[in-house]
Amino acid sequence: MASLWNPWHGCHKLSEGCKHCYVYRGDARRGIDSTIVAQTKNFDVPIRKKKRSGEYKIPSGTNVYTCFTSDFFIDAADQWRAQAWKMMKERSDLHFLMITKRIDRFSQCIPDDWGDGYDNVTICCTVENQDRADYRLPIYREAPIKHKMIMCEPLLERIDLRPYNIGEWVEHVTAGGESGKDARVCHFDWIMEIRDLCVENDIPFWFKQTGARLVKGGKLYNIPRRLQHSQARKANINYKYRSLTK
Ligand code: SF4
Repeated sequence: MASLWNPWHGCHKLSEGCKHCYVYRGDARRGIDSTIVAQTKNFDVPIRKKKRSGEYKIPSGTNVYTCFTSDFFIDAADQWRAQAWKMMKERSDLHFLMITKRIDRFSQCIPDDWGDGYDNVTICCTVENQDRADYRLPIYREAPIKHKMIMCEPLLERIDLRPYNIGEWVEHVTAGGESGKDARVCHFDWIMEIRDLCVENDIPFWFKQTGARLVKGGKLYNIPRRLQHSQARKANINYKYRSLTK
């Protein structure tokens, strides 16, 4: 079972991977300014209870996708984060998963009782090119986090993850192209190189989506949005991947 929790909304573009951010694209369609970071009305969703029974509304055992319309570690949310951590601690029966491009802010954003990390929190670090991998992964590798995942999406160039010995500390790797009308090209070979490294190290791998422009066998394919996930599935290159949403 899975649930979505966006305690705040809005973000500031940070690196190449942010260029065509899906939050900005979605907000543009609705006339919302994505640069304004604001608490949402769903801020306390994890601890909301049913009136009658007093039970939590989100059932025990649910995977909670956290902060998917912002970055959990953005500085504009510093004032709300302590409360968010408190809710995650209270709901130790849920599993929270967040994705960040700001792993370099992690150490200044954790609560006092974090220790080696909360068992029920996965923090996923995204890397879109070699430059960002070389900057973020050394920080990420050293960070006290119980569950670590790497996301190479949108994959903008070949990334060599070998120097980071990911077999020793990474639980899962995701890769995918970029979507949207201005999407940059992704090469299937880049995806396969990451996939092969995962197989070699016995790390589950998920080819999430092809993106809108995929080069395979020297040919450029323009892939409509509705087919980007299914085409990735058809490539049949996932390794030990189990969807978290089921
Ligand atoms: S960090 Fe994520 S949410 Fe924020 S602008 Fe970049 S891609 Fe968008």
